[in-house]
Amino acid sequence: MTVAYADFRDVNVSDYDAVVVGCGFAGSVSANQFAEGGLRVLMIEQRAQIAGNMYDEEDENGILVHRYGPHIFHTNSGTVWRWLRMFSGFTGYQHNVLSNWHGTYLPVPFNKNSMEIAFGQERAEELIQKLIDTFGDNTRVTITQLREQEDPDLKEVADFVYQNVFLYYTQKQWGLTPDQVDPSVVARVPVLISRDNRYFQDAYQGMPVFGYTKLFENMLDHENITVCLNTKAEDVFDLSYEGQGENVKVTAVNIQGKPFTGPIVYTGPLDQLLGERFGRLPYRSLDFVYETHDVEYYQPCGTVNYTVSEDFTRITEFKHMVLSKKQNKTTIMKEYSRPYTDPATQIPYYAIINEQNQEHYQRYVSMLDQLPNFYPLGRLAEYKYYNMDVIIERALKVSRQIMGK
Ligand code: FAD
Ligand code: UDP
Repeated sequence: MTVAYADFRDVNVSDYDAVVVGCGFAGSVSANQFAEGGLRVLMIEQRAQIAGNMYDEEDENGILVHRYGPHIFHTNSGTVWRWLRMFSGFTGYQHNVLSNWHGTYLPVPFNKNSMEIAFGQERAEELIQKLIDTFGDNTRVTITQLREQEDPDLKEVADFVYQNVFLYYTQKQWGLTPDQVDPSVVARVPVLISRDNRYFQDAYQGMPVFGYTKLFENMLDHENITVCLNTKAEDVFDLSYEGQGENVKVTAVNIQGKPFTGPIVYTGPLDQLLGERFGRLPYRSLDFVYETHDVEYYQPCGTVNYTVSEDFTRITEFKHMVLSKKQNKTTIMKEYSRPYTDPATQIPYYAIINEQNQEHYQRYVSMLDQLPNFYPLGRLAEYKYYNMDVIIERALKVSRQIMGK
């Protein structure tokens, strides 16, 4: 079997019990669960392919590359790990990231090994001891916690890490300093009081053996699922509204001329669907620039973060991350972060988490509170900074709740 694709013009929506917008994890996990529960599911995806931001494909060098940013799977949830492995085997890949610090490599998250490179063996020993005495050995602290310390030695470490790991990278990524972004954002990358050089410390990590796209194909390969690509929800949904101004409510989602009353899981941005009525929600976008180099490897690990130089934030070399044939060519990808200003040409990748934007987002959510069958789900629709495992777990939960209704 394969995924059942159809042209939206050829489908009759009344043949379906549920509609899912978006074929990333939020949409695909939901569709899979609905289908397993016996519902007939119509999926609508604006792109020309499934797998959302996880989409990967072989490039002209035969190397599997990620087209929407490097995606490394990691989770502490045994449930998610077991469930996902029904659709693909996983390699044992453990992600390592180095910071390019004026040409010298420092492990990130900053740890005892990074400290020895940055401060020299002797001074590092004193500083490490101070960190252990204060926070305990084998612990993790956030840069925010570290910067709150009064002790001059700890201040020295905090200042170094702030200036050389966080400041410039965060300015490039968000157009803001680390003090201006939500503390949860920089807390994603702690300071580790250990010698663990891995970027993630989760119990389960790896990459789908044949790539994410294959994994998604297996997830959507179900007799109850039909996928319509190149179809935007805004073009096929006709929303009925009631009320005015702040009190405007959506009262029905009409598809092919009739209100659709089955569950609708929507995983795109709410502002886009609701006509940007309250102004566009702020996001950061990215540009990806690929290069081929005639060498076996370009850099020592999967990702190198440029924390004190360059306009791009990081370089990912896919050969480290995915299974590939031995060859004297490699593909690298540079990431440039941009303000999101043009929905026609840009993709909203990162919600900008802060109170004001959350309130802005809530104005859109309140337009939907009279629609009992509409479920915004996922990184875009919920305006959240979700990792893959978190949205998989949520989609499993939400779709099962919907079916239990
Ligand atoms: P998406 O994957 O974005 O899927 C949404 C889908 O909906 C897309 O296919 C989109 O085209 C479609 N869509 C949107 N609007 C409409 C519409 N109006 N009509 C029709 N279709 C629509 N997480 C990790 O765990 N590990 C990582 O290493 C990691 N790396 C990342 C790197 C980058 C650069 C980024 C941006 C994210 C990364 N993530 C990572 C997070 C991961 O991408 C998200 O957790 C995941 O994509 C969330 O799935 P989703 O289904 O909510 O959204
Ligand atoms: N960050 C940083 N320097 C680094 C790595 C991360 O300043 O070397 C900060 C930056 O603000 C970034 C955030 O920590 O946006 C979260 O990093 P993560 O690697 O989790 O970002 P993602 O992979 O989601 O882009």
